[in-house]
Amino acid sequence: MEPLQREKFNQSIIQRVRSVIDEYNLFTDGEKIAIALSGGKDSVLTLHLLNGFKDEYNLQLVAISVDEGIQGYRNEGIEVARENTRKLGVELVEKSFEGEFGIKLDKVAGKYKSACIPCGVFRRYLINRTAYELGADKVATGHNMDDEIQSFLMSFARADFRRFSKFGPKLEQIHSRLIPRIKPLWKIPEKDVGAWVVLNGIPVHFAECPYANLSLRGKIKNYLNQLEEDHPGSKMAIMESFQKTFKNQETPVELVECQRCGEPSSLDVCKACEMLENINSDI
Ligand code: SF4
Repeated sequence: MEPLQREKFNQSIIQRVRSVIDEYNLFTDGEKIAIALSGGKDSVLTLHLLNGFKDEYNLQLVAISVDEGIQGYRNEGIEVARENTRKLGVELVEKSFEGEFGIKLDKVAGKYKSACIPCGVFRRYLINRTAYELGADKVATGHNMDDEIQSFLMSFARADFRRFSKFGPKLEQIHSRLIPRIKPLWKIPEKDVGAWVVLNGIPVHFAECPYANLSLRGKIKNYLNQLEEDHPGSKMAIMESFQKTFKNQETPVELVECQRCGEPSSLDVCKACEMLENINSDI
C-alpha cells in the first residue's frame, strides 16, 4: 500500500477511536490509564493509540501484562509487550498467576469446562487490583468490535442477561476498588486491527492461545466469521441491535468487599478466592 493510503487508513482508525472517546467520555483530562497489555494485536493497538492521545488529553499511561502460565504461548506476548512499551517509553508492570496465586493455568485448566473460566476470573482480578494499587483512574482493554459482538451473543447463549450491563465502551464506577474499564477499540472491527499491524509493521504476538478454539467464544467467533462471509454486514447489524439493547439496561448489581481478600465482589467471597480454595483443596 502507498504511504498516503496507509496514512489515510491510520487516520480513519484514529477518527473512529476519537469519536468513541468523545461520545462516551472515556476519560477526562489528566487521568491515569492502565492498559491491559497481552502483546496481542488489539492491546498493542490500544497502547499505541492512547500514547498518541496522551498529550492532547494530558494522560498518564502505564501498562499491565499478566502471565497466566500457558506454556509455549504467553512468553512471546510478554516479550512483545516489553518491546512496544520500551519503544514508546511507557512503564510496564508484569504480574503472573504463579507469583500472585501460586498456580499456572496449564496445571488447573483441566478442572474446568474451559480454561477461559479460571483464566478470565484470575486475570480480571489481577489487572483490577494492580490498576488500583497503581492509582489508575481507568483500565483500557483491547476489546474490538468483534469481541464485543461475541460477548453479546455468549450472554444470549447462556441466558446471562445480567452481563448486558457490562457491555458498551465504558463501564461506570460501581465500587471504589473497582477501576472502570474502557474499550477504545469498540468501533474497530478485528480485520482493521490486523490490517493496522501489518501496514505499519508493528511487532505483535499473532499466535492464538491453545485453549481459544475450545471455548464458547471461539466457536461463536468462527460462526460469526462464516456468517459475515456469507452475508456481509451481519456483524454490524448485530452490533447495532446490541447498542440499542444495552442502552436500556439497568445499573448492575451492587458490590461488596470480599470477606477473604477485600476486593470488590457481588458475593461475600469473590470468585477468585472461591476458585483458589477449590484448587488448593485438591492439591
Ligand atoms: Fe485465557 Fe481463554 Fe484467552 Fe487463552 S483464550 S488467554 S485461556 S481467556
